[in-house]
Amino acid sequence: MDTVNLRISGPTPLPPRVRAALSTDMVSHRSAAFRDVLAEVLGGLAPVFGGPATILPFTCSGTGGLEAAVVNTVSPGQRVVVVSIGYFGRRMAEIALAAGLAVELVEAPWGRAADPGDLEAMLRRHRDVAAVLITHNETSTGVLNPMPELSRVVRECSDALLVVDVVSSLGATPVLMRDWGVDVAVGVSQKALMAPPGLALLGVSTRALDAATANSARRYYFDFTAMAQAVEENTTTYTPAIPVFHALRESLRMIADEGWDQVLARHQRLSEQCRGGLADLGLALAADRPHASPTVTSFFVPAQVRASDIRERMAVEHRVQVASGRATWKNSALRVGHMGYVSDGEVAQVLDALGAVLEKGSVRGGRQA
Ligand SMILES: *Cc1c(COP(=O)(O)O)cnc(C)c1O
Repeated sequence: MDTVNLRISGPTPLPPRVRAALSTDMVSHRSAAFRDVLAEVLGGLAPVFGGPATILPFTCSGTGGLEAAVVNTVSPGQRVVVVSIGYFGRRMAEIALAAGLAVELVEAPWGRAADPGDLEAMLRRHRDVAAVLITHNETSTGVLNPMPELSRVVRECSDALLVVDVVSSLGATPVLMRDWGVDVAVGVSQKALMAPPGLALLGVSTRALDAATANSARRYYFDFTAMAQAVEENTTTYTPAIPVFHALRESLRMIADEGWDQVLARHQRLSEQCRGGLADLGLALAADRPHASPTVTSFFVPAQVRASDIRERMAVEHRVQVASGRATWKNSALRVGHMGYVSDGEVAQVLDALGAVLEKGSVRGGRQA
């Protein structure tokens, strides 16, 4: 069977070295062997997160990590501001509502980045904001939020904790927790970090750990204080996703071998290659250039064709799998993931397949401006 070029926004393809690491037999998670793996993984992640006080690995998907961030830092009844520019921003608002918080939304239209001025106005209106929740890279629209500007507003206008969803940016673009003053950054194993799903990786500040200790919200498995204590002792609270740790150790070694600057540059280059190729096909891009995501590109299909048809034909005829649009963009947009284990050749293959499908159908001409 020939392989599929998996160009969705996660999970992402596994490098052969990582797949080999996954064939390791089980070890006890309390063994010296596993402690070595854990220490190497957490050590390797520290620069990727931009120097957090600690990194808490929870065995769950990214959404579990986001819920953990919220329930540890904010108590029921407290107010939070959620900055939402798409589907995953809305999910964070839903998590906050489920946790019994008072939620104020700062929204931008889909395809745009958040406006720091709007956030500032909201923080000046409400002086009692316990936390601000922001999506760094909005995977549904392919927009990278301007974190330096947004975090500066949070720091200057409030004492709120800053919680950032870095699920689809971590490992592909700078996440500078210390410089930006981020208190919790939530990432995952299965996107730019080239490992399978199974781990939420939370960079956490001292302030966030203190808030967790003082916090009354209910949680047991997802407790920051317990996990921070375990990590301090070079272990985890409960049985972790051991194979994912083995995989992540290998992928972090690959990142170190390639060089962190080269990894960042490659993602930038592939994003530009993808955007350029789509524009050459006459397709409209969702994100404006300054805020274009380095990891996922969203574009609109020609008005007279169905996004699902294009996606299906790319998969069946060319073995290239792209992602559908989300929510209101389900029928009008498609998304190309270009994060993690991906090269120029694979992005070119996506563009060739898309060009061939558009050419072959009766969709030439009259493309959406
Ligand atoms: C993928 C993604 C998530 C959700 O991750 P799961 O692992 O599926 O729970 C959350 N936020 C963003 C921005 C994502 O891209």
